[in-house]
Amino acid sequence: MTDTETTEPTDTEHRTEPLLRLEDVHKSYGTERVLRGISLEIERGDVEVLVGPSGSGKSTLLRCLNRLTEVDEGDIYLGDLEVTGENNPNEIRQQIGMVFQDINLFAHLTARKNVTLGLRKVRGMDETEARERADAELARVGLADQADSYPAQLSGGQKQRVGIARALAMDPEVMLFDEPTSALDPELSNEVLAVMRELVEDGMTMVVVTHEMRFARGAASSISFLESGEIVERGPPDRMFDDPKEERTKRFFESIR
Ligand code: ADP
Ligand code: MG
Repeated sequence: MTDTETTEPTDTEHRTEPLLRLEDVHKSYGTERVLRGISLEIERGDVEVLVGPSGSGKSTLLRCLNRLTEVDEGDIYLGDLEVTGENNPNEIRQQIGMVFQDINLFAHLTARKNVTLGLRKVRGMDETEARERADAELARVGLADQADSYPAQLSGGQKQRVGIARALAMDPEVMLFDEPTSALDPELSNEVLAVMRELVEDGMTMVVVTHEMRFARGAASSISFLESGEIVERGPPDRMFDDPKEERTKRFFESIR
């Protein structure tokens, strides 16, 4: 090696880049400052769990991550792609899939059609290819036998799993989950959490807002505690649960026990 090579950073080959990078993200609604300078780096394959009181900005943060909401200030990158840049939001949403608390399937379409729709319209797949892809994703979430069912014929947990299959079908780099089990009974929640755990095992990069602390503790690479639009504290799950440094984090974890 020459001196030049050892002293000057040349290119990216020796650095591990985070897959998702937020730099000083701000967002206000009117005079309410909902996100006040969020900076966060998430590595490929990591699972970031966001916790915090209602109204702390968790959903807004997820929405900024896939351009459902535009940030006021700051930057978000997915690898080299500038999420907050001039890119087409649809391109971002293919790469960053999202699953919401409210299960938003098209009621007049079967489970399979709910999944093929995006593949046909956004990916331009032909019917046969889209159908094969949809059926594979439905099988992945344990719904191979429900492809022809309409949403009204499915349980809340099954609908939520169709929503996950629909997002996965686009082959995203990152999956965002916004309280995916909050509207479900415990038994149905468990079906959804089991699918999410499988995604974790498969190495999917995920950002998850959830009140399911058992999931958080078992699956998270790290937990961020948000309050009033700021990350008050971030750390590995065991430390966040057992030995939080900040008084506000302590109070939060005590309040949900
Ligand atoms: P969380 O998901 O942590 O409960 P949210 O991100 O949903 O928090 O909301 C944070 C704050 O931003 C709340 O006070 C909420 O009322 C406000 N807010 C969220 N979305 C909007 C919106 N579209 N218009 C106005 N205020 C909003
Ligand atoms: Mg929310």
